[in-house]
Amino acid sequence: MLSSTGYGVTNAHEPLSQLDFTRRDLRADDVQIDILYCGVCHSDLHTARNEWGNTVYPVVPGHEIIGRVAAVGGQVRRFKKGNLVGVGCMVDSCQHCSACAEGLEQYCENGFVGTYNGEEMHSGGMTYGGYANNIVVRDKFVLSIPDNLDPASAAPLLCAGITTWSPLRQWQVGPGKKVGIVGLGGLGHMGIKLAHAMGAQVVLFTTSPEKREDATRLGADEAVVSRNASEMEAHRNSFDFILDTVAAPHPLDPFIELLKRDGTMTLVGAPASPHPSPQVFNLIMKRRRLAGSLIGGIAETQEMLDFCGERGIISDIEMIRIQDINTAYERMLKGDVKYRFVIDMASLKQRA
Ligand code: NAP
Ligand code: ZN
Repeated sequence: MLSSTGYGVTNAHEPLSQLDFTRRDLRADDVQIDILYCGVCHSDLHTARNEWGNTVYPVVPGHEIIGRVAAVGGQVRRFKKGNLVGVGCMVDSCQHCSACAEGLEQYCENGFVGTYNGEEMHSGGMTYGGYANNIVVRDKFVLSIPDNLDPASAAPLLCAGITTWSPLRQWQVGPGKKVGIVGLGGLGHMGIKLAHAMGAQVVLFTTSPEKREDATRLGADEAVVSRNASEMEAHRNSFDFILDTVAAPHPLDPFIELLKRDGTMTLVGAPASPHPSPQVFNLIMKRRRLAGSLIGGIAETQEMLDFCGERGIISDIEMIRIQDINTAYERMLKGDVKYRFVIDMASLKQRA
């Protein structure tokens, strides 16, 4: 077994602290990675605190991983020692169901294996994530990182980037389309950057008036304070697509009412308790659609990374030491992140 050390929790009520654990030995199709950076996603917090009710402890969060290949198994051809690579929210899937066959491993009929809090397919134990010194991942789930991108600022592309890219592509966002992004956090800021780069007209909806200026700097054409009814009213019946990234329950109707006929609102934010049910008539009267979307497949993640490489798109990050992770969680809950925390894994102390 490979010895690992990282930050995690053994129950829902404790702060994160350093834990030692083991990972499976390198298999023929595995890549062993020394982790350099790991982004901090709101899903890490939901899971550490068991807010979705499915956490198996101990848990080591982290699924926005950037590192260097330390070793490869005998059958691995795509990577070699020293390559800069990324790992996102998945580390395995069945590879033979209809979803996997279409490159949509996140919808694997047999359940994809999450990068953390997932059931290992090989050792039978649980997976541990990227708030750690190393990780072992099946080569098919390892991504190449364009070498012109700053590695730390590229880390959030592995979850926040692909989770916004996938629905923007699925609902064909591009020139001539008016797109709303709800919530300016980790996902939201990538949603603005990507929708803008795809050529759409982008409007941010925020509960934080002080984020307006940042929204336009990031690529939004306009920022609307969603609690201001008259600002919202000005956009009635005008959106082709709205992507909701908010991490807490909130009414959906004020946004659904902004969709034009046949417009779609897609939810990616995954609050611990449900949103109030929207008014059915708001959907019926204009044939509007309410949808959901889960991260993105491996092929489309590579496509998104290559697109970001070509356009020089990275995340706006605040680098932290791993010892500051608990403060970072508290700040994330207050919406005080600009716009993604990334852990510098050099701060992690190796233990004897
Ligand atoms: P984040 O950085 O904390 O951003 C969430 C944003 O939501 C905040 O910045 C804030 O933006 C807005 N917000 C408004 N009211 C809020 C409240 N009461 N509490 C918290 N946020 C509030 O989170 P994130 O990492 O972007 O993740 C967002 C959500 O997406 C989480 O629930 C996460 O688990 C989920 N997620 C889903 C997927 C998927 O595959 N579907 C993948 C990754 C993450 P304003 O200040 O602009 O209002
Ligand atoms: Zn995430």
